[in-house]
Amino acid sequence: LSRLKAGLSKSSNKLTSGIGDLFTKRKLDDEALEELEDLLITSDMGIATASKIVQGIAKSRFGKDISSEELKAALADEIVPILEPVTKPLNVQTGRKPHVVLVCGVNGSGKTTTIGKLAKIYSDQGLKVMLAAGDTFRAAAVEQLKVWGERTNVPVIAKETGADAAALAYDAVVQAQADGCDVLLIDTAGRLQNKAHLMDELEKVVRVIKKVDETAPHDTVLVLDSTVGQNAHSQVETFDKIVNVTGLIVTKLDGTAKGGVTVSLAERFGKPVHAIGVGETAEDLRPFEARSFANALVG
Ligand code: GDP
Repeated sequence: LSRLKAGLSKSSNKLTSGIGDLFTKRKLDDEALEELEDLLITSDMGIATASKIVQGIAKSRFGKDISSEELKAALADEIVPILEPVTKPLNVQTGRKPHVVLVCGVNGSGKTTTIGKLAKIYSDQGLKVMLAAGDTFRAAAVEQLKVWGERTNVPVIAKETGADAAALAYDAVVQAQADGCDVLLIDTAGRLQNKAHLMDELEKVVRVIKKVDETAPHDTVLVLDSTVGQNAHSQVETFDKIVNVTGLIVTKLDGTAKGGVTVSLAERFGKPVHAIGVGETAEDLRPFEARSFANALVG
């Protein structure tokens, strides 16, 4: 919890100093509610979510005096029920050999780092893990995944730069089956600048994986950089159209005042949030937990 709090400190600092300014002890009237709503919007909760939360707080407390501590507790209480339905760890222990996880996201969102962190978590659990360097377009992405493979002692299937991503994914599933792997994590390209090409490539990756195992991919995880704020919404829409996103991992919550975007994503899409990234090292992928996230967010 302390790590999460430290991680979300920028979001919570912004919210709590705002709340402190607003509510040393104050009557919860229309003006106060409006200011609170603005504050929630600036912490990237989105307009619809901010309005819902403020209405929830007003319901029981309108016209009453409220201290900043009481207000923070009330805020957390409104946020928890939004987050609870999407709190769902990524379950890869399904007995499938392998359980195939396709990891998507725009370049720089933290895909490769997140795959490295997951590789560490699963291999520490005694699972046999394999990685596939499916972002074949960027030499740096392949190299970075190899570094994570060495660090976590997990094999990485890779090809030369520019190789066909679908062919690589195919080979990786075949190899993971042959080796009896429990989990195969497939990295993918994220060049949103060329949407048509990205779409073709990701669709082809999915199609080809199904030729080896028609039930795969078993999870399609979208990695979102929280620092992009509300832009994360359009990323969910874009990738969902291409690959049918089954869950989210939200990264870089350590460096942003936009942690509230997680709440607005939960409210709008209802997609499971599997984990959150709060730093660059292997230990910095944390389970997503509604109550501790809400508490950390309000400070
Ligand atoms: P990709 O292009 O989507 O594969 O993104 P990368 O995994 O290469 O990550 C881009 C940058 O973000 C790298 O410098 C990572 O170390 C950094 N990064 C990833 N996740 C986190 C996180 O949770 N917190 C912080 N502070 N940095 C992160």
